[in-house]
Amino acid sequence: MRMILLGPPGSGKGTQAKMLCQRLGMAHISTGDILREAVRLGTPLGRQALPYMEQGQYVPDALVNDIVAERFRRADRPESFLMDGYPRTLAQAASFDQALRQQSLGLDAVVNLIVSAEEILRRLRLRQGQENRPDDSEETVRARLKVFDETMPPVIEHYRRQGILKDVAGEGSKEAIFRAILQALGAE
Ligand code: AMP
Repeated sequence: MRMILLGPPGSGKGTQAKMLCQRLGMAHISTGDILREAVRLGTPLGRQALPYMEQGQYVPDALVNDIVAERFRRADRPESFLMDGYPRTLAQAASFDQALRQQSLGLDAVVNLIVSAEEILRRLRLRQGQENRPDDSEETVRARLKVFDETMPPVIEHYRRQGILKDVAGEGSKEAIFRAILQALGAE
């Protein structure tokens, strides 16, 4: 399976990505993880990405596009994969199409996990109650949701036009959402 998992921040996308990769034997490619590792190691990429990440902003398209294209040019490129956190903009989607075409790899599916902003904020408040975290992170989450709402619609349309977009309701237990995704993929 070669797929992309899309979903707003706080939608449980990372958890579902791990469960799906385990079940379907896909490589989990998370640009957020790759960037955090580069920052930890202090590589040139990490140094370039850090100021954006610290402010919760997107890293420039050219940087992430290079990271992903390079990953697919390597001899040990994944044949079966799940993209988590990429593409996030239409320019990234176009670049990813090209990178896959160059490797003669086709995408099977793009799962669009739909969770309302109200539900994301409700889950956040629940977590804060349990973990006694400061309240200010609600503002950060709202800011991230706003960026997501501004950049994702053209990406979603891009894949809808390709006929591979699968909308899945991302509300309910994590097991129920997992089953709904597997069903949408025809992988149950
Ligand atoms: P994530 O763990 O996917 O939320 O990513 C953490 C941070 O890395 C984001 O807030 C961005 O600063 C950066 N990042 C990860 N993936 C991308 C992407 N596809 N485009 C731009 N920035 C990204």
